Amino acid sequence: MIESIDFNAFSENHPGNHVIGTAPAQIQRVSIDSRKIQNGSGTLFVALRGTRHSGWHFATDAYRQQVRNFLLPVEAQSEELKTELLGANLLFCPDPLQALQALAQTNRQAFKGRVVGITGSNGKTIVKEWLAQVLSENYRVFKNPKSYNSQIGVPLSALGIESGHQIALLEAGISQPGEMKRLASIIQPTLGIFTSIGTAHDENFQNLDQKIDEKCRLFAGCRLIIYRQDVEKISAYLEQHFPPNQRVGWSEKIGADYTLTVKPNGKKGSRILLLGRDLSTYTFTTAFRDPASLENIRHVIVAGLVLGMSPPSLQKGLDLLRTVDMRLTAKQGKNQCRILDDSYNNDLAGLDIALEFMRQQGKPAGKKVLILSEMLQVGVESAVYEEIARRVSRQGIDLFVGVGKTFDSYRKLFPVDSKFYSDTDNLIQHLSDLNLQGDLVLVKGARAFEFERVVRLLEAHVHDTVLEINLNSLRHNFNHYRSKLPAGTKIMVMVKAFAYGSGSAEIAHHLHQIGADYLSVAYPDEGVYLRERGVELPIMVMNSAARHLDLLLRYRLEPVVYDLQTLRELAATTPGDLSIHLELDTGMRRLGLEENDLESVAALLQDHPKIRITGLFSHLAAADEAIHEAFSRQQLALFDRLSQFLMQKVTGRPLRHVLNSAGIIRFPEYALDMVRLGIGLFGVEINGMEQEKLQPAITLKTVVSQVRKLKKGETIGYGRKGRMYADGEIATLAIGYADGYDRRFGNGKAYVQIKGKKAWTIGTVCMDMCMVDVTGLDVREGDTVILFGKNPSLQQLAAWSKTIPYELLTGIGRRVKRLYVLD
Ligand SMILES: *Cc1c(COP(=O)(O)O)cnc(C)c1O
Repeated sequence: MIESIDFNAFSENHPGNHVIGTAPAQIQRVSIDSRKIQNGSGTLFVALRGTRHSGWHFATDAYRQQVRNFLLPVEAQSEELKTELLGANLLFCPDPLQALQALAQTNRQAFKGRVVGITGSNGKTIVKEWLAQVLSENYRVFKNPKSYNSQIGVPLSALGIESGHQIALLEAGISQPGEMKRLASIIQPTLGIFTSIGTAHDENFQNLDQKIDEKCRLFAGCRLIIYRQDVEKISAYLEQHFPPNQRVGWSEKIGADYTLTVKPNGKKGSRILLLGRDLSTYTFTTAFRDPASLENIRHVIVAGLVLGMSPPSLQKGLDLLRTVDMRLTAKQGKNQCRILDDSYNNDLAGLDIALEFMRQQGKPAGKKVLILSEMLQVGVESAVYEEIARRVSRQGIDLFVGVGKTFDSYRKLFPVDSKFYSDTDNLIQHLSDLNLQGDLVLVKGARAFEFERVVRLLEAHVHDTVLEINLNSLRHNFNHYRSKLPAGTKIMVMVKAFAYGSGSAEIAHHLHQIGADYLSVAYPDEGVYLRERGVELPIMVMNSAARHLDLLLRYRLEPVVYDLQTLRELAATTPGDLSIHLELDTGMRRLGLEENDLESVAALLQDHPKIRITGLFSHLAAADEAIHEAFSRQQLALFDRLSQFLMQKVTGRPLRHVLNSAGIIRFPEYALDMVRLGIGLFGVEINGMEQEKLQPAITLKTVVSQVRKLKKGETIGYGRKGRMYADGEIATLAIGYADGYDRRFGNGKAYVQIKGKKAWTIGTVCMDMCMVDVTGLDVREGDTVILFGKNPSLQQLAAWSKTIPYELLTGIGRRVKRLYVLD
């Protein structure tokens, strides 16, 4: 909605600013990432201060893409930069993030429609997405894409609200005190929704009340606040701080503004009975049965009613909310394709996120294909389709497939070999015409197009056990470790053993994106595998020999050299420059050069300038154990001494690195030039000191194959090891020890989670299956089962089987499909 910004006027309200250039800036979009610019001349580039990669280094990159309006931090001012950005409008300001937030606030204030602000510990993204879906039956709705709910995500979202919208839905997520005030001043909701309160980020708050208090700051200017009255702490707080006419409570018990009770609806899901304070009644139906979804749906129903929807039109919207995964997911497809499933909704902001995700997958063997439904976007229709076409060409899409009649009028905007279908059925009939083979296929459609049907046809038929890797959590954990390190310290991520079982190429691409500097694998073939999949970061190989020299050079792999003999052979035979890392043994007694090798090493290197020492490192034997702290410190001191010695002897400035995940937490003062992050990336804080700061990034899931009723005294499985001590029910799960679900978990040693409840194993774990006791849990065939993830955690499972998380992760079978999600 912001169409032009007068930098001088903007600057007057923000002291400390400095403006160069005066042309009024015609702005359609704001970007903080030069890689994601779609339409340079209409973009304002905001260079945020990053922890390491400061945005203004990318300003010249943006300039090359025709961007002529920049918001930069004051310290970026230099004659050099001004020359590089010749003729552009530059606004230098003391706090670019604050300036971005101020712009967003201006945009919000110009909006005349209603704004719904959603917060809470769980469910806010789902409530937002579902409410948007339901409201779009009657209104033109804006919402923030995915979970863009942070200090940066909210302003970027709020800048997307346009005058044609009638209702904007914005979710706000916080992790520490003081954050909500800034978000509230941007969102300025007229209606608030408080979804729930849980334990996330507890460590940053004194207690639950403080957390509730912080979240409620979002509602300061709201006319109405929707909340669940049965949650005591929330209702007590709201009742104390907001007058009755500002509150809309719903409850399962009579007496609230809306009483909403749930009844099972046979096999078809649930019925929700509504009783209003005015004694109006209505019965909604939904396909959902699980408590979390039913809670979210009731928030949606109340919000829909408050926003003026009639119950029948609400029901129409609810019918579209099936159990569709709302997350962007990378799946294995038929014919060696990879499917990026984003079949939940479709708008430009979401398309940009999905295209970015596509870019991160690297180059496919075959084509890059985009299957896109028509978009219900506000604004001039032709402009929207031009925007889509621009993205198709910029992102190097080889085959564009448009679905929906609207495309008819805009075919000429798209490449000639594009394909168009009037609706989803029509596409499905002609799916084989697309000749998908080794392709990377992004499927993105508005809810009404039910593109999940298309995805189902494209997906490889896999058995239902999956290892799900949450890329947002990975980023969160990466940033946590980064926050422990001085600015400028590089991060090498250990992606050996298929990235601890998680899938090395996919993870490597994502790591590049989030700012990793280096990768490391154990053996040369792992490095080759990454290079063949387009990974470009430098790669260290821990265990290779002189006979691999060809391979190392051809694939730009940097070997670790840990003995004199290999160093001699490499020096004697390398035809070109070779970068190596020297490993020093300081106490691990595994691999490494020793003190009395170093004189010879130094002499050898002086004679052989083709060998370049890129890194010098050592490995701690017991970084995660307090009782070995003295030993670790001895190792660190020895490394310091030996590496100093070598540094004086070699030319160049090798990177020194010694800390693994545990070491980063315990000995951050030894960060040196680089650290080597491993298990911590996946959310396991192996010291157990900062576990609550990490998010479990890996979840092992399967499904229930069968549920059966058993009588007291019956026995279960091989060796009749399981026994029913009363009448009850068991479920057979589609996972066994061949998938990495260890035999040691059998016979009640571990539980799994089904629909939020614990089910303990019963009987012995078989090769491909295992059984759990589900007596009284209302479990059905097809229900999702979590073997590990949040609860039980990987650490819990490791403890149960007396091993370590590393072994469990790397033991997950290859037939278990890896699924990458971005929520
Ligand atoms: C595996 C490995 C690491 C990473 O260890 P984590 O405990 O997973 O952080 C670091 N350095 C070396 C040499 C390794 O082999």
